[in-house]
Amino acid sequence: MKPFENRNQNQHTNQSNCANLFNQFCISLNTLKDSFRPRLFLIKKKTYWCHYIDNALITSYLGRVGFCRPFLPHRSTDIDSFNLKDFLKSRAIKQNELKKGECGDCCGCSFLNVGYHDKNEWVFNSIDLAFSSFCNLRCTYCYIPKPDLAIKNYDKEEKMFSLICEILDHQLLNPYGSVSFSGGEPTLMSSFSKTCRKFFDYSPNLTFAFITNCTIVSKDIVEIMKTPSKVSFMISIDSGNEDSYLKIKGKPFFQHVMRNLQYYLKIAECYPNNNIRVKYILLPENLNDFIDFLNIMAGLKLETVYFDLDANLPTISDEMINAAIDFCIEAKNAV
Ligand code: SF4
Ligand code: SF4
Repeated sequence: MKPFENRNQNQHTNQSNCANLFNQFCISLNTLKDSFRPRLFLIKKKTYWCHYIDNALITSYLGRVGFCRPFLPHRSTDIDSFNLKDFLKSRAIKQNELKKGECGDCCGCSFLNVGYHDKNEWVFNSIDLAFSSFCNLRCTYCYIPKPDLAIKNYDKEEKMFSLICEILDHQLLNPYGSVSFSGGEPTLMSSFSKTCRKFFDYSPNLTFAFITNCTIVSKDIVEIMKTPSKVSFMISIDSGNEDSYLKIKGKPFFQHVMRNLQYYLKIAECYPNNNIRVKYILLPENLNDFIDFLNIMAGLKLETVYFDLDANLPTISDEMINAAIDFCIEAKNAV
């Protein structure tokens, strides 16, 4: 074969290969276009999701149960008439509305998210039990009206316990999920001990959170602390000495609370899966105390101190803002 003929033939073969490739490319493009079309359609449409709807069961001291963090009254039901099936049905309706891009009365809520979200397989990932109003202190800043702090509601607590049993017996809670106890003072709930036990028996892999005033050392909490379960505390102290404690909390328990805190810290030293944080709400009554407080906490080698301003104050004074800044500077120095 002559070299010239050979070159022509090669050229012809290359051209037909190119044509084939181009045809294949066009076919693939069409196929891709078809498979992307539904997704492109969805991308154009806005979808919403809310962590609380997807994951949470939230209770309030008023005896109400719901899935919505700001606790919209029409999204919560009194425990006396609560029915788990109806709850899940109304939750599914709201989830579908959000998925379709209808945010309705969720519009403007800071917990509303835009975009895709894959919900995991569990019906609940967290249970918040703020079910009791009963408390042995009378903090000036407490959001619960004073008369309610004296009320023990055994009947509703028992119903709440039955609901928890129903959820756990049907294995609706993620065994690696979380449960938080607050109130009132949760350790004073008549059903506290058996509720802790029920959760712990369900799964030792749950994370337990206790928002407590630490006036009581709970043997149930101590037992859980000594297991591989994660326990986190938020303990309200709000003062650096006995006088301001009495002024703010209405009871002379400062030294007693410090002893209890040390006891929990000692256990946490041996079981590092526990995390203890203390809280200091800046109030007109304790603006000058926080250096004492920070010194005590540094002495106890506490790693995390949380502070906030009193949310009930109608206006924040310059004095308060300056104290907040000083608090941060002193806390940094205390490290
Ligand atoms: S109002 Fe907020 S928290 Fe409640 S369901 Fe809607 S997005 Fe979630
Ligand atoms: S300890 Fe908590 S529940 Fe009790 S009075 Fe103080 S703020 Fe209220």
